[in-house]
Amino acid sequence: MKEQPLTLPPGKRFRLKDFDPAYTGTFGNKKDAAQELQDNLERLHSLQEMLYAQGKHALLIVLQAMDTGGKDGVIEHVMGAFNPQGVRVASFKAPTEEELAHDFLWRVHAAVPRRGMIGIFNRSHYEDVLVVRVRKLAPEEVWQKRYDHINAFERLLADSGVTIVKFYLHISKAEQKERLLERQRTPEKHWKFSPGDLEERTRWDEYMAAFEDALTRCNQDYAPWYVIPADRKWYRNLVVSRILIETMEKLDLAYPEPPPDLEKYTIPD
Ligand code: AMP
Ligand code: MG
Repeated sequence: MKEQPLTLPPGKRFRLKDFDPAYTGTFGNKKDAAQELQDNLERLHSLQEMLYAQGKHALLIVLQAMDTGGKDGVIEHVMGAFNPQGVRVASFKAPTEEELAHDFLWRVHAAVPRRGMIGIFNRSHYEDVLVVRVRKLAPEEVWQKRYDHINAFERLLADSGVTIVKFYLHISKAEQKERLLERQRTPEKHWKFSPGDLEERTRWDEYMAAFEDALTRCNQDYAPWYVIPADRKWYRNLVVSRILIETMEKLDLAYPEPPPDLEKYTIPD
């Protein structure tokens, strides 16, 4: 089987039809991936401890997907490896009246992690070129300019010590149907069932076109987009964990220098 790329070089057009949501690489099932996932989660835990101790870099993880795509699942099963003290999750909902009275990046900028911290965006400023575009919540001349605004904003963050990594969790329309049915028939999942999601589903192709533009126009070396095959939850988790390790290993993470003459101190009884 041909290896499926996870990202493309900046400037290259993303065509989501070329990315198979059910791709699992060389792995056949969840069991094959279990050991590597466990090792990866331990590695992520250590890397985050250093990031926190060093206080030099911030890491911003952006999660976008269609409804049921697995944003919550990735946060639980992959980012669950991190120490909660060093992580902040920001979930972006439909903007409030106050948020709408500001520019679209105002609420987003306020949620960017400080140095030493990991910020997870469960949805993000990309909603402003996704749902806003598909639902016509703003006129085209407004959302068209936002790709440039987003690139400039992410550049500012990157120049300020924030490492950005963006995941599009790619599920098929058929898999979404399964997951919506599952939400409908499982009492513990009823709370996740929003009738509104059914309406978004009818605009699937428009969303795919909006995602393709967002991924293509905002895929930069300093803020790359990854297309995660997400029909299989276990493979999705594995791939996200790998990319996070790769991203964090590129930083010069290290524990800070100890206080001078550390060994000369005696601990009082
Ligand atoms: P959930 O993530 O399932 O809690 O749903 C959050 C909802 O907020 C989704 O329907 C999003 O499309 C919506 N949302 C998030 N950001 C925006 C935005 N900037 N404009 C309009 N709707 C948004
Ligand atoms: Mg939802």
